[in-house]
Amino acid sequence: MGQKAKRTKSGSAWMHEHVTDPYVKKAQLDGYRSRAAYKLLDIDKRDLLLHPGMTVVDLGAAPGSWCQVAVQKLKKKGRVLAIDLLPVAELPGVESLAGDFTEPSALIWLEEKLKSGRVDLVLSDMAPNISGVMLRDQARHYELCELALEFAVAWLKPNGAFLVKAFQGVGFEDFRAQMRLAFRQVDIRKPDSSRDRSTEVYLLGRNPNRNESVTDDATMTNLQNQA
Ligand code: SAM
Repeated sequence: MGQKAKRTKSGSAWMHEHVTDPYVKKAQLDGYRSRAAYKLLDIDKRDLLLHPGMTVVDLGAAPGSWCQVAVQKLKKKGRVLAIDLLPVAELPGVESLAGDFTEPSALIWLEEKLKSGRVDLVLSDMAPNISGVMLRDQARHYELCELALEFAVAWLKPNGAFLVKAFQGVGFEDFRAQMRLAFRQVDIRKPDSSRDRSTEVYLLGRNPNRNESVTDDATMTNLQNQA
């Protein structure tokens, strides 16, 4: 079979799965921008991550269904900062940047928004475009995970949490080890809405071990007083 025929067949299999997927239908009925909403809803049901008053950073946010869930759970108290390569269509309660999280400009935008305030929850559902070369795709994915982890460690409150999409396979155990160094508690979650045949899981880190990178106001005042 030629490459073109193969691609057409898998394309129609994907389309069949997509149109018959109960979560795709449910998302349309519930007004969510994508079926991914149910992954965060499933995890939040168990882990109670989202509460009114929180500051939430959503990395890899487009089309915006996790933002929708976050806004609902925050009940108009708190803020959601979202970044994606693609624009997130306007959503009340969400401040978004169309930009590349690997670029310094994304970090500058977040720093300007946060000022010295810390973050309660960092979400990363980022996934690079698939090239089809498994090792390359996994490596690019874990580069994004590591950058998101670095951001989370620097900006989370002492009782903050970091939820990140990971794919089991090459790089997974290394990244899990990094998560264990960074957080006192690390759990794996496979929400019902994550397709069984996908190696996708979510790693949930809670209570960062150390995050002195962002100096809070009280520490800054102490330092100034000591100077
Ligand atoms: N959580 C989203 C939702 O509920 O709508 C779905 C996210 S989708 C699975 C993965 C997203 O990661 C894509 O929209 C993609 O553009 C984004 N992404 C990939 N690489 C990125 C990067 N370097 N910076 C920002 N976003 C990135």
